[in-house]
Amino acid sequence: MDRSPGKAIALLSSGLDSAISMAWLNSQGTPFDCAITFDYGQRAKLQEIAHAKAICNHYGIRHEVLTLNWFSAFESKGLLSEKEPLTQPSLKHLKDPKLLLKSAAQVWVPNRNGVFLEVAASIAESRNINRLVVGFNAEEAVTFPDNSVNYLHAINKALALSTANQVRIESPTLKMNKNEIVVLGNSLVFPFHLLWSCYEGKEKMCGTCESCMRLKRALIQNGKSIDGLFINSVFQ
Ligand SMILES: [Zn+2]
Repeated sequence: MDRSPGKAIALLSSGLDSAISMAWLNSQGTPFDCAITFDYGQRAKLQEIAHAKAICNHYGIRHEVLTLNWFSAFESKGLLSEKEPLTQPSLKHLKDPKLLLKSAAQVWVPNRNGVFLEVAASIAESRNINRLVVGFNAEEAVTFPDNSVNYLHAINKALALSTANQVRIESPTLKMNKNEIVVLGNSLVFPFHLLWSCYEGKEKMCGTCESCMRLKRALIQNGKSIDGLFINSVFQ
């Protein structure tokens, strides 16, 4: 079997963290077999797929969409529901751990990252690839434990036993906050207009959900223009 030790598969939602992680490793010469975007019935699935495809086109990386439509058979709230209004945090809210735990619970999809990583590891092993690239970040790890250093170490331990070729997950943005990730993106001349970080599935990013607010804050702090990116550009 052809073995390509350096080849990687990226998990690309088209959000800031996964996109910059892939872009960074691409700039370091990592060859990518493909980038995978999951359709798990989330509100923004069409937007995430379209934006991930555009990012892949930009970097000349093959894009694959994997459908996991059984998520919505078990869960019908939060990101998997079109009806439920999501929290619209203010800037102050983003600094309040108690409120953030509440809004994190609202968009939590049961074991989503765990499923994504295991499914992607299975695909990687079948192609004799042992590197998976994800976009974890320190900022959201505070309220999303499946974004944390501990989780990365734990799942790598498990994958060492459950994959024959020792698939490992790596995340260049693991210890960065959104601000630092934007700085890294700037240094890579990343096309920020191709991102989709919004929980909602509207014609533009809403600009008011927690994910939008985090992106908006990081872009503004780095002097990036947010013109035309969000439905609501107000920043307060
Ligand atoms: Zn949004």
